[in-house]
Amino acid sequence: MNKLIISAAITGGITSRQKNPNLPYTSDEIAQAAYDCWNAGASIVHIHARENDGSPSYRPELYEEIVHKIRTKCNIIISLSTSGLHLPADMTEDARWAYLKYNPELASFSPGSVNHGDKVFINSPDFSKRLAFQFKKYNVKPEIEIFHEGMINEALTLAKDDDISTPFYFQFVLGVYGGITATCKNLLHLIDSIPEKNTWSAAAIGRNQLPINLHTILLGGHVRTGFEDNVYYQYRELAKSNAQLVERLAKYSLDFGRGVASPEDARKILNLI
Ligand code: ZN
Repeated sequence: MNKLIISAAITGGITSRQKNPNLPYTSDEIAQAAYDCWNAGASIVHIHARENDGSPSYRPELYEEIVHKIRTKCNIIISLSTSGLHLPADMTEDARWAYLKYNPELASFSPGSVNHGDKVFINSPDFSKRLAFQFKKYNVKPEIEIFHEGMINEALTLAKDDDISTPFYFQFVLGVYGGITATCKNLLHLIDSIPEKNTWSAAAIGRNQLPINLHTILLGGHVRTGFEDNVYYQYRELAKSNAQLVERLAKYSLDFGRGVASPEDARKILNLI
């Protein structure tokens, strides 16, 4: 079986320190968490910027600072979020891609809309086309975030129109309110819904994170873990760090006889080099 890519979604846009005091907020904390996850076996880190008070940030210079600080520490693949879920009303949607110019190797790309918590995560077909153009312009590979099956259809349509290149790197995110429920049957259905020769990874929200991660390891996909999706290590026990969650998946994978991908391995698997 191919080596396992572990992606660490270390902060997210919603999780707060009220939920887990170990959540990284500042650029130094995010860079240190990325480094710790890299040491624990992660080959990708998924980044949302926060202001020092924890509020979601779209300031490009803050993303630049985070990218720079991570790159001085290790060679982990950086995937920046382009989510507009927390975009302030006075900012245009251009703010969602303003930091692609800092050349992350990956960035999230959500081809379609979904109810997400008490918000609506809006990605119109027109917006997706414009976002795809920015990915091409800056030569960033999209990490195609799938919250429900309809988004796969939209991604395939974008590829047919040559707006995004294949093969895809899909990130199935199961268990978001309004999205596909986090069950193994649904995971199998998503896998069956994408054309072969595409790479896929899976994440799940809350207590479904670990079960979906473990099934994914056995099914040959890749995994995403981290505080963006879940802050617990086990029932009623908060995780000490993102790295603790990464370390557990790396151990399980090795126990199951599946090696863990280094960033260089992951770059080859994802056709980044
Ligand atoms: Zn995210």
